[in-house]
Amino acid sequence: MTQRRDEQAGSLQARRSTLRLIGAMLACGILGGGASPAAPPFVGAESPAMVDVGRLEATARRAGLRVVSGDRLVLATDRPPRDGDGIDDLPRIFTAAFERWCDHFQVDAGATAGWRAFGCLMADRERFRAVGLLPADGTIPDFANGYCDRNRFWLVDQANPAYRRHLLLHEGVHAFTLTLRSLATPTWYTEGIAELLATHRLEEGTFVPTPIPRHAGEAEQLGRIEAIRQLRISGASPGLAEVFATPPSARHDIPAYAASWAATAMLSGHPAHAETFRQLEAGPLDARLTERLAELPGWDGERAARDFDAFTDELDHGYDFARSSIEWTDGLPLTTRERLTIAADRGWQSSGWSLSKGQRAAFRATGRCQIGRAGAIELESEADGISLRWYRGRPAGRLLLAQWAAPADGGRPRFEVIAEGRAGRFIAATDGVLYLKINEPPGELADNNGGLDVEIGPIAPNTSR
Ligand SMILES: [Zn+2]
Repeated sequence: MTQRRDEQAGSLQARRSTLRLIGAMLACGILGGGASPAAPPFVGAESPAMVDVGRLEATARRAGLRVVSGDRLVLATDRPPRDGDGIDDLPRIFTAAFERWCDHFQVDAGATAGWRAFGCLMADRERFRAVGLLPADGTIPDFANGYCDRNRFWLVDQANPAYRRHLLLHEGVHAFTLTLRSLATPTWYTEGIAELLATHRLEEGTFVPTPIPRHAGEAEQLGRIEAIRQLRISGASPGLAEVFATPPSARHDIPAYAASWAATAMLSGHPAHAETFRQLEAGPLDARLTERLAELPGWDGERAARDFDAFTDELDHGYDFARSSIEWTDGLPLTTRERLTIAADRGWQSSGWSLSKGQRAAFRATGRCQIGRAGAIELESEADGISLRWYRGRPAGRLLLAQWAAPADGGRPRFEVIAEGRAGRFIAATDGVLYLKINEPPGELADNNGGLDVEIGPIAPNTSR
């Protein structure tokens, strides 16, 4: 009897150690599929893979907590009710998001009948501990913002309603993937996909997935685009391989979350990688996920790494993957004068011509193009750009010429602008193709029209022309 108790105690101790380890792995934290690669799929409310939501709901009601519920979520909170706090809307928004997750993971909605999550939205976590809704036995770590165990999660209340919804849905994605897809993936995917599938906007109160927010106000306080931009400016932006190797972290590491989100956004949104990523997600979401990706026949790791660098270099609100996708080419040596047309509604475009480092060349651009509107006014621009609107330190509509190069002072490769405007001479910064575009935010290309005609040609080293 004693021995058995010791064994039980030992096994409990081991379980707690494992749980602590898993809990420490992730900033917001998950517990579930990670413990066992053969975690059973969802089989109903009484399954060991699922927490009994009805029992928790009864506990919450007995404790006098406010409980709101819908088809897919029962949410208990100690927040004092306040008019217009949006709490009553959360279960309905969660249901809409759940349907979107079913689509994304190709999970048949019929197989999820009866699936519900139990969430605790906590202003004071002691209150939840006191009534047994937040285990105090060390099985759940002292998380910063949120934590998920199977179909049960906790989140710390946020002052900003949009960020509160985001966190709720982020934990919801964890609950969904842990129980319905037995997820046990590397951190970059676990956190990246939760961030990606939680990002949304409300249109007349309705959930609309918005993988890349269209403007800063649309996903308040997420700050991921700004975080990536800062990493880029400081030369600390990670490459795709580094993101794939994101270590588990016990803290809410904004740059790591932002980079993980960026990787899943790029892989699922870029026309060259989306289909391969979809195939990957149709398979096991296990610890070998990154290796599985590399093994897929459609995977081009070198291209993906470069596309990721181009994405983080150019990333901005409303980033348009289809229009910003780059045709990476080797190009032919530029030996004679050549003519090309640069479309106003696309990002960087290959000239098809290559220059060697130090080679001198000249260009001249003609024509006018439309670069969107300012109110009722249609904005037209020539190659110098317009003074009415600037983007990243240059007039909008301005013709930019660049090469893809690794910065001399370190950091990831990026487009290095070597010439701009209507006409001029320039010196190649590196061996490689000349890319051109019209200066515009990557989220505002769709309403552009037309293009510029550009002539480029080499200058002989000893001419002064
Ligand atoms: Zn998370």
